[in-house]
Amino acid sequence: MATTKQEFGNIIDGKVISSQVRESIKNEIKEMTEKGLRAPCLVVILVGDRKDSQTYVRNKKKTALELGINSIDKTLPEDISEQELIEIVKSYSADPEIDGILVQLPLPKHINEETILNQICETKDVDGFHPVNIGKLGMRGRVADFQPCTPKGCIELLDRSGIKIEGKNAVVLGRSNIVGLPVSLLLLNRNATVTICHSKTQDLKEKCREADILVVAIGQAKLVKKDWIKQGAVVIDVGMNTDENGKLCGDVDFNDCKETASYITPVPGGVGPMTIAMLMKNTLESAKKKLLK
Ligand code: NAP
Repeated sequence: MATTKQEFGNIIDGKVISSQVRESIKNEIKEMTEKGLRAPCLVVILVGDRKDSQTYVRNKKKTALELGINSIDKTLPEDISEQELIEIVKSYSADPEIDGILVQLPLPKHINEETILNQICETKDVDGFHPVNIGKLGMRGRVADFQPCTPKGCIELLDRSGIKIEGKNAVVLGRSNIVGLPVSLLLLNRNATVTICHSKTQDLKEKCREADILVVAIGQAKLVKKDWIKQGAVVIDVGMNTDENGKLCGDVDFNDCKETASYITPVPGGVGPMTIAMLMKNTLESAKKKLLK
């Protein structure tokens, strides 16, 4: 359990947990390649020269290399046409040597993101954003090929901290396609009773106070205070914002809430490091499905 030892205010350390996940991925890949199987292969497509996107892509490539994942960077000019990009994504989708395809968002304005993401074969959708994979998350008895990385990282943090999900009241703040909605579905699949809140929710604070597990993904710096949470609740903060001093902070006021929560994730060092680790895990799982049939 990667937490500090107190009854309340246990910090769920995403840096420690993500490094444990990365280590086990690295070991599995080593075993695969020692048996003569090829390494998993991830293609990262970057269109244009946005500095923030370049940084994300560089970090993904660095992690992939550390773990033994073959990473192909496909950097394309800002003015590439939608049709040209469609053809490139389709060709990677058809290539049996490729296990995962990631298109770095946002795309330039003249390209429709939905059209492009729909071209990724759902069995290589390691980001987990394909509508078929999201749809399967919401249907009983179906198994999505991949779960979106940040929501999957939230569940991994709970599991690896020994926190039981089944039967708990889970409240999710936020309903975005990339975090709020899929994390709600993952919690539901684990038999939590889930309430999803958003900007039009009435009595938000009271709803949050009902949570045994509160997941916050709204993009509002330090909005959630200690009087929003029940004594002993588990608080997972997905938010990444800058505070009044320009420092990275979450959607939860960590210092205010840490004594009231039984477990809480810090920002930075909580959910953030899990996202890339889960991308690598999805890529490995994709390769295993093909290579270890
Ligand atoms: P988003 O697409 O902007 O969605 C925000 C959601 O929060 C929406 O559902 C919105 O409601 C709701 N919301 C906004 N303000 C609210 C308020 N005052 N009260 C209640 N609900 C409110 O954001 P996102 O992409 O899900 O990201 C959320 C946060 O997570 C951001 O800080 C982002 O940077 C961070 N993030 C972190 C990671 C990571 O790896 N750690 C990954 C992704 C995102 P409506 O639907 O009604 O508009």
